[in-house]
Amino acid sequence: MEDDKKNKVTFILKNDISCPVCGTDFKREELLTGRGRLIAGNITGELRRLYEPSKVYGKVNPLLYPVTVCPNCFFSAFHEDFSKLKVDGVEKAKVSTEKRKGIIDRIFKNLDFKAERKTQHGAASYILAAECYDYFDKWSSPTIKKAISSLRAAWILSDLEVEDPLADFGNLQNLFYKKALQYYIDVLIKQEKALESFDGIKHLGPDTDVNYGYDGVLYLIGSLTLKNSFFEKDSPEKITNLEKSKKVVSKMFGFGKVSKEKPSILLDMARDLYDELSRKIEELKEKLQSSPAPENN
Ligand SMILES: [Zn+2]
Repeated sequence: MEDDKKNKVTFILKNDISCPVCGTDFKREELLTGRGRLIAGNITGELRRLYEPSKVYGKVNPLLYPVTVCPNCFFSAFHEDFSKLKVDGVEKAKVSTEKRKGIIDRIFKNLDFKAERKTQHGAASYILAAECYDYFDKWSSPTIKKAISSLRAAWILSDLEVEDPLADFGNLQNLFYKKALQYYIDVLIKQEKALESFDGIKHLGPDTDVNYGYDGVLYLIGSLTLKNSFFEKDSPEKITNLEKSKKVVSKMFGFGKVSKEKPSILLDMARDLYDELSRKIEELKEKLQSSPAPENN
């Protein structure tokens, strides 16, 4: 029993949480840190932190826990926002309950959010959060939260494919990469037009460890545009999008100083990304010049 406790990676919070949408009381599972539970590995080109499995605790995925999900109506939000839904948001969330539950049922069938969280719960929690930030007003910075949730959903869907090679989440994963890119572009537009600020969010991630801030947003627009370009047909529009994203990435070099908000690792990655985008654009231009796309009838 003692050993069992020692090897745990999560615990259940004592106090009940009450769902602002349906009134259900439930308990939340939280990640225990420390004692070598999390062994940080490399960082990916999408700014995701990878973790090495520990001998004692096995594989630990900290991404599975930051979103609170009501086990009854599936209303979901990051912990800090869950109880802050305003009256009109509650109404919106109430009328879309069946839609929310339907989305998750179609993908995962009978997923029980009272049970200990597994990888499926993690993916579902972010798919739900990306949906539920529609119910929040602009003061909670919903667009960046939808972007982060969509990106993390795509990441965890890829984890599910590693766990079960027969599970086919490829299309869904591509969909969430696309959504993430679109939300990140929206974030930039809303920032520039002063329609939505970052006042409602402390940690821009995109992962749970390092906060890459605004530069992370610029970098991810480049990185996700490049990633999505591999699934799209070659066209002049594709070149335009890659050129636009290259311009966004170049904004990161404007003030060459390395500061706390601008870790040098991010600048190095941005330089590599910039070169990769340049190469891809040239390659596409040559390809389209030598064989123009056939005209559609
Ligand atoms: Zn509920």
